[in-house]
Amino acid sequence: MPCEVKPRFVLLYGSQKGQAQSIAEGIFEEADKHGFEAELSCLNENEKYNLEKERAPVVFIVSTTGDGEPPDNALKFVKNLKKKTLPSDHYQHLTYALLALGDTNYANFCNCGKTIERRLQELGAKQFYATGYADDGVGLELVVDAWLEGLWSAVKQASQKMASDASAQQKGNVMQTPAFLEVQLNRLSLSDHQPDEKNTSNNATDGKHATVVEQTAATESKPGSSESRTELSSAPSLTSSLPPLSESALNIPALPPSYLDVSLLEVDAVAETLGPANKGALHEVPISKAVKMTSGDAVKTALLFELDISDFQIDYHPGDAFNVFCPNSAVEVEKLLHRLGLWDKQNHHVCISLLKDTKKKGGKVPTHIPNNSSLLYLLTWCLEIRSVPKKVFVRALVEHTGDSMQKRRLQELCSKQGAADYNLFVRDQNLSILELLTAFPSCLPSLSLLIEHLPKLQPRPYSAASSCLRHPGKLHFVFNLVEFPACSGRPDGKRGLCTGWLFDLISPALESSGSRLLPKVHVSLRPNGSFRPPSDPAVPFVMVGPGTGVAPFIGFLQQREKQRLENPGAAFGETWLYFGCRHKDKDFLFREELEDFVSNGTLNHLKVCFSRDNEEVEWEGAQSTARPRYVQHNLLLDSKAITSVLLEKSGSIYVCGDAKNMAKDVNDTLMEMIKTELQVDQLEAMKTLAVLREEKRYLQDIWG
Ligand code: FAD
Repeated sequence: MPCEVKPRFVLLYGSQKGQAQSIAEGIFEEADKHGFEAELSCLNENEKYNLEKERAPVVFIVSTTGDGEPPDNALKFVKNLKKKTLPSDHYQHLTYALLALGDTNYANFCNCGKTIERRLQELGAKQFYATGYADDGVGLELVVDAWLEGLWSAVKQASQKMASDASAQQKGNVMQTPAFLEVQLNRLSLSDHQPDEKNTSNNATDGKHATVVEQTAATESKPGSSESRTELSSAPSLTSSLPPLSESALNIPALPPSYLDVSLLEVDAVAETLGPANKGALHEVPISKAVKMTSGDAVKTALLFELDISDFQIDYHPGDAFNVFCPNSAVEVEKLLHRLGLWDKQNHHVCISLLKDTKKKGGKVPTHIPNNSSLLYLLTWCLEIRSVPKKVFVRALVEHTGDSMQKRRLQELCSKQGAADYNLFVRDQNLSILELLTAFPSCLPSLSLLIEHLPKLQPRPYSAASSCLRHPGKLHFVFNLVEFPACSGRPDGKRGLCTGWLFDLISPALESSGSRLLPKVHVSLRPNGSFRPPSDPAVPFVMVGPGTGVAPFIGFLQQREKQRLENPGAAFGETWLYFGCRHKDKDFLFREELEDFVSNGTLNHLKVCFSRDNEEVEWEGAQSTARPRYVQHNLLLDSKAITSVLLEKSGSIYVCGDAKNMAKDVNDTLMEMIKTELQVDQLEAMKTLAVLREEKRYLQDIWG
C-alpha cells in the first residue's frame, strides 16, 4: 500500500511561563487529525529547524515577558533576527503565521510577537494568516480560541499554495510569484472577534472543539434536580448555570490524551530532605528583621523583611529582584491528599514514567519532580497546587466526574459557550484545583492527571528595597499581604501563597515584639541588568512607584545618597519620585526615609498623592478642584518639567509596581504629556515613547 506523505509545517514557540508552549503543543497534537505533520521546536533549539531553507509554512507562538522582552528561550532567536546585516530578501521564501501572547496591563503589549513580525516582514517573509494578539489581561482564550479555529484552513491553503508554486517552478514556469495569499489579513482582536458559526453548530466534530450531545443535563430528571433548578433560577454560580447556557449545545475542547504513568511505591521510612528542589543552587538565609509598615486599620498589610546575607555570595544592585521559594500550604496539601484518597500514601515514593502507547506527541516526564520524592514532597514543593485549572484541565476532569449535573457544569465551564462563566467563576476568582474539587464532590481525578496538568511551583520574585552601600550584608524587601476574598467557589477568603507564608513565618515574632529567633528562607538572585539608575550620576531621572512599587527606588536613593557623600564636588542630576498610597497616616511606606532623602538633597522632588483621603471633600468639590489622587495625576501637573527631563536632558523614567492599572495609566499620561508639550499627534507621541524604551530610558518593573 502506498504510504501517504502528509504535508508538513514548522511550529516554533517562545514561552516564559509555559502558556505559549502549551498552545504550541496543543497545535502539535491536533496536526495529525488535520492531515499534517507538525515539526515542533522551541525557538532556542535552532539545531532542530532551519528557517533559511524552510519551504513549508511556519507558525510562531510567542509570549512577551518583563518590560516587553522576549522569553528567555527566544532571546537568541530575536537577537539574530534583529541583525542589521541581514539582507531585505533574507526570508523572502518564508510564509508564516504568528500568535502573540501579552498583557495590555503592560505598556509593551505583545512586544516580542510584534518585533518578530516586523522583522520577518522587513526581511521579505509573507504572512499567510492574520496575527492574533491575545491579552492575558482579559483572558488569552478570547483571541487564542478564535485564532486556533481559523488556523487549520489557513495552513491547508498555504500548504497547497506552496506545493502548487513549487510544482510550477519545477516545470520551469517561474514567470512570477503571484501575490501571496488572498486570505483575510485583518488582525484578530478582542473587539472584532465573532464566533465562527460553522464551529458552533452541532456538527463541528473535526476541529479543536467537539460537540457534546448531552445538551441539557440540567433538565434531566435526576435526584436533586429540582433543588438545582431552584438554585438555577436565582443566579448562576460556580456549580450551576442559567439558560441559555444551561440549555445550549456545547463546543468543548478535545480530551487531552493522558501521557504519564504514575505509581506509588511503599518504602521503608527514610528521612527526606525538606525544602525546595535543586536546593544546592539556592541560599538559605536568615530573616534578621521584619517590620509591619502599615497601620492596623489600613486596607492592605505591607511588611518589610530584612535578610542577613553576610555569609553568602549575593552581590545584588538596586533594581535587582530575588526569588523566594515557598512551599504550598500544609493545610491545603493535607486536604488535597484526603480529597484524592491518598492520605495514607503520602510517604510513598512517586514513580513517574511516560505512558506506553500514549497518543500525546512530545509528552515528557516533568523535570521539576526529583526522582524518589514522596507524594507529600511532590505536593508541597514541586507542583503549583494553587494554580487556576486551565480549560483543558477542566475538560479532563469531566471524565472523572460521576454526577451528571456536575459533569454538565464542568463541560459548560470548559466550553466555548461557557467562556464568560469560566472567567467569572474560575479564573477571576483565582480558584485552585482543591477549591474546584470541593465544589464538585463527585469528581475524583487520578494523581497522574494532576501531575500532567499542574505547573511547576514557581518562586515569587521581590524587588530589593535597599542598597548594600547603606546596609552591608543585608537585603531588604517589602510586600503586600495578598488577600483573596470569599467567593462562589470559596466560602472563606485566603491569603496569597508566598505572602501568606512569609506572614505566618514571622507573625509569632511580631506578636512577641521581635524577641523570638526568626526563621530562614530559600532565595536566589534575579538580576535585572537594565533597571538601574543612569550610570552617569549627572543624568536626571524620574521614578514612579506607588505602594510597594517604591521598593527599588529606596535602593536607588540609598545608593545615590552614599555616592553624594563620597563625591561632594561631583555634579548630580535631579531626582524625582512619584509615590502614591491610600491614606497619609496608614500606608505611606518609607515616609521618614523619603523625607530624609529630601532634606539631605538626595531626592529633589517628592510628589505624593493619597487616593482615599478627604473623599467627601473631593466629591463635594466640583471637577475643577479635583486634587491628584494617583501618581499619573501628579505627573501631569509636572508635564513641562518631566518632558524636559526626558526629551531635552536625556534623562530616564522608571515605573515600578502594579501592572493592573497603574503602568498603563502612567504610559497613557506620558503620551498625553508628550502630545501637549511637543504639539504632536498620537502616532508621533507613541514613536517618541518607543524611542525612549528602545534607548532603555523608559523602563518598567511591574507585576500583579
Ligand atoms: P499568589 O498566591 O501567587 O497569588 C497571586 C495572584 O494574586 C495573582 O495572580 C494576582 O491575580 C493576585 N494579586 C492580587 N493582589 C496582588 C498583588 N498585590 N501582587 C501580586 N498579585 C496580586 N510584590 C511585592 O509585594 N513587592 C515587590 O517588591 C515585588 N517585586 C516583584 C518583582 C518582580 C520582578 C515580579 C515579577 C513580581 C514582584 N512582586 C512583588 C510580586 C510577587 O512576586 C508576588 O506575585 C506577590 O507577592 C504575590 O505572591 P503570592 O504567592 O502571595 O500570591
